[in-house]
Amino acid sequence: MAFRILIDETRIRNRIRELAADLRDAYDDPLFVVVLDGARTFAQALLRALGTSGNAYEPVRVRSYEGTQSTGQHELVRDLKVDVHGRDIVLLEDIVDTGRTVRYLDDLLRERGARSVDVWTLLSKPSRRVVDVELRGVGFEIPDEFVIGYGLDFDGKYRELPHIAIWSADAEARRLQAGSTMHEGGATSG
Ligand code: 5GP
Repeated sequence: MAFRILIDETRIRNRIRELAADLRDAYDDPLFVVVLDGARTFAQALLRALGTSGNAYEPVRVRSYEGTQSTGQHELVRDLKVDVHGRDIVLLEDIVDTGRTVRYLDDLLRERGARSVDVWTLLSKPSRRVVDVELRGVGFEIPDEFVIGYGLDFDGKYRELPHIAIWSADAEARRLQAGSTMHEGGATSG
């Protein structure tokens, strides 16, 4: 048993093309801010699909602590290197789950004087939302499952999968038992 494919490569590619077309029409010289590590794959595909060369993007990395507090705590472990004052920000995320990470970054960028902050995310799990966040672009709304692939990891693994798959403890255990190889890391739609 392998991981079940939720969204295959073709659907991802087609949807990213649509998002890129929307994005192209919506902004004039935005600053792309990419939340590492997960959103890198999405961001690169989206910028490629935009078709204009030389799009700069700023990476940020956020660490979150769930702890015992229901609000969660965030820390910026890799900060932006550019001034966002007066800029229109396109914040690129891999997945919006509770919404807390996006809320944290949105607040931070606005505090620093960004003119606007819009969130574009490959995936969204609306049923998991704790914080109300507005998403300007959503690739796919997905159910409450833990997903891997296309930049998303489980324990540092599976980011390289070309599709989005549903991680499961059963499939993980079977993979480990079988002796993992790159080949067996693949998912199946069965
Ligand atoms: P939020 O702050 O919206 O709760 O969570 C955002 C972050 O949680 C994402 O950027 C991602 O790192 C992680 N996350 C949430 N759901 C998933 C999931 O299904 N799979 C993976 N790999 N990461 C997830």
